[in-house]
Amino acid sequence: MIQHFDAGDLVAVLTTQPLDRTLDYKAPEGGCLTGAFVEVPLGPRKVIGVVWGPGRGDFDRAKIRSIIRVLDAVPMRDEMREFLTRAGDYTLTPMPAMLRLATRSPGLGDPPSMRSVYRLGDGAPDRQTDARRRVVETLHDYGGLAFTLKELAEMAGVSTSVVKGLVAQGVVREEQSPRDLPYPRLDPGESQYDLTAEQAAAAAALAAGVRSGAYGTTLLKGVTGSGKTEVYLEAVAAALKAGRQALVLLPEIALTAEFLTRVEARFGARPAEWHSGVTMTERRRCWRMVGEGGASLVVGARSALFLQFRDLGLIVVDEEHDTSYKQEDGVLYNARDMAVLRASIAGAQVVLASATPSLESWANAEAGKYARLELTTRFGEATLPEMRAIDMRDEYLPGARWISPTLEAEVRARIEAGEQALLFLNRRGYAPVTICRACGHQIGCKHCDARLVEHRFLKRLVCHQCGETVPIPEACPECKAEGRLAPVGPGVERMAEEAQALFPEARLAVLSSDLFGSARALKAKIEAIAAGGADIVIGTQLVAKGHNFPLLTLVGVIDADLGLQGSDLRAAERTFQLMRQVAGRAGRAERPGTALLQTYQPEHPVIRAILSGAEEAFWTAEAAERRAAGVPPFGRLAGIVLSSPDVQEVFDLGTRLARADAPLRAIGAQVYGPAPAPIARIRGRHRVRLLVKAAKGAPIQEALARWIGQVKPGPNLRLSVDIDPQSFY
Ligand code: ADP
Ligand code: ZN
Repeated sequence: MIQHFDAGDLVAVLTTQPLDRTLDYKAPEGGCLTGAFVEVPLGPRKVIGVVWGPGRGDFDRAKIRSIIRVLDAVPMRDEMREFLTRAGDYTLTPMPAMLRLATRSPGLGDPPSMRSVYRLGDGAPDRQTDARRRVVETLHDYGGLAFTLKELAEMAGVSTSVVKGLVAQGVVREEQSPRDLPYPRLDPGESQYDLTAEQAAAAAALAAGVRSGAYGTTLLKGVTGSGKTEVYLEAVAAALKAGRQALVLLPEIALTAEFLTRVEARFGARPAEWHSGVTMTERRRCWRMVGEGGASLVVGARSALFLQFRDLGLIVVDEEHDTSYKQEDGVLYNARDMAVLRASIAGAQVVLASATPSLESWANAEAGKYARLELTTRFGEATLPEMRAIDMRDEYLPGARWISPTLEAEVRARIEAGEQALLFLNRRGYAPVTICRACGHQIGCKHCDARLVEHRFLKRLVCHQCGETVPIPEACPECKAEGRLAPVGPGVERMAEEAQALFPEARLAVLSSDLFGSARALKAKIEAIAAGGADIVIGTQLVAKGHNFPLLTLVGVIDADLGLQGSDLRAAERTFQLMRQVAGRAGRAERPGTALLQTYQPEHPVIRAILSGAEEAFWTAEAAERRAAGVPPFGRLAGIVLSSPDVQEVFDLGTRLARADAPLRAIGAQVYGPAPAPIARIRGRHRVRLLVKAAKGAPIQEALARWIGQVKPGPNLRLSVDIDPQSFY
């Protein structure tokens, strides 16, 4: 509830400082509202906070200080405060950290930045000239609008001194106006395409959901190229028509450019953007305009969920299965799940779009919690690629070679036909391991329990955990033998070398996130490839994410077995999704595509499911296995990682926690560990994991809070809790 406080009233202020409670302050001169962004004194400093409600009154009133000032920003709405509170409760994140997510606007504490604008005044000119008349007519033509000096002079076709002369006589009025202008209005209009019957039905269902003004989540499943984007843009149109705001989350900044172009084609203007590649000025404008209602559509990364929308009616989570929606450091949250929470509070609709949904979303749709819409065919001529295994046990390959003769012949045929082939290997760098042929030593990171990966392009060995790099050594660091170090296994850079040797005349393009300094460079490369600027594309999972390559007709997966190793509970799911996504890159336009999977285990149930495309059968089998094991989405997990430079200290604390498990047993949960984490040391900190497993409905957050509250970690020790962990490193 929004409440007004008079000057001097006690109010509780939540700050972004790591304190475990709100602090009481006196409302400033002129009073303030709940949700107001304020500046308050804290010790010798001034910090930013939000008025959270009436003061607690548990502190000596005489010592309570006053709020310094109310900031120039729309107060945080109740809905947003509830979202932050519930998201914090769910992820066991202290409120100050949640507030930090919601105040990531550059210059939030600054006074509004102003600029001069010009509009019609009521004075009369001392003498009329042609130039003067044009200025006055231009301002008349545009009704009451105001323009900057440069704009007005350009539109009237006069020099700026003419405008200034009119200002001096009061014919034109100069005013100050905030720099952060609203975004151009988007016109919901009509789709420029004739939607197919299936697309039209799905679009109508989503639009009806938006019009209902109530919460609902829909899983929009459809093969790559079936028109999911086209369909959810109709839901965006429905939100615009209803005068509500929409948010589209994309898993990868590199995808935004293509999407913005589509939005512009459909709605006549560009939406607001929110991600790390956006300038400070634009971020500030976006943050403010979302709150004031001057932005009707935002396209962004997961953190856009924490913008304070004035009236959010729709959230689209595109490629909802993508693991990058899980934030893996700082506040550990899953943007897909938080989108559902946010929408349920705001009375908004969620659309989860994917060709290969997460098992979580699939199970929620099965259980009737989410609606489900399906697009079964690719648009137009495009057909799904034919998928086959290449049984590597039957292929002859000399050492340090990974492209089988069968795959080689297929690639050659594509190049000769003027088409593109993609070789997919989900491994960055040149070689994952560097071994000494003299002593067998494998070069590892000094700070981490990880082997260094050779990046030949950078001429360095790189730790993929901590980012430490060293020059590629001449001699073995262990036995000092010279010239005996050898790369073992392939990365994409090594695949490029092999492909160049096999196809010397072909033009190669390597797509790997570490090879691009900026999102812009990556985007340029992707556009060049799409336009036919390469014959062979060699890429990591970066290429699996929704880019359109119309000339691409062959996808060769170098090692389809790669993701099936390891103990991750989602290994099968991830492999299934990734392989289907990558295969979906082939045959997007008129030409049919083929996907070939190099595998040593073509009989493996996951490989067979990928090849047959029997998706429902795969999900059903996978769901049955997880249900039997009581793991997500049919049970709950929380991962606890303890880390410290002192190995004894982490194990001691881990053991104490494991013994003090009464609060967990009280809800029927079990704790496993402590065990060294799969990566037992990162940046010099030793890491120990505990895993808590509970039944689906168990109140796991409260139990975890009570359990962890029993121990007081020392100053060097870090403890992080990951609810619904996605990775287990
Ligand atoms: P998805 O999001 O499922 O991968 P898209 O919405 O990107 O699919 O559609 C794939 C391509 O087909 C796009 O270029 C899109 O513009 C085009 N397309 C989809 N539906 C239609 C339609 N009904 N008429 C014309 N073009 C369409
Ligand atoms: Zn390291």
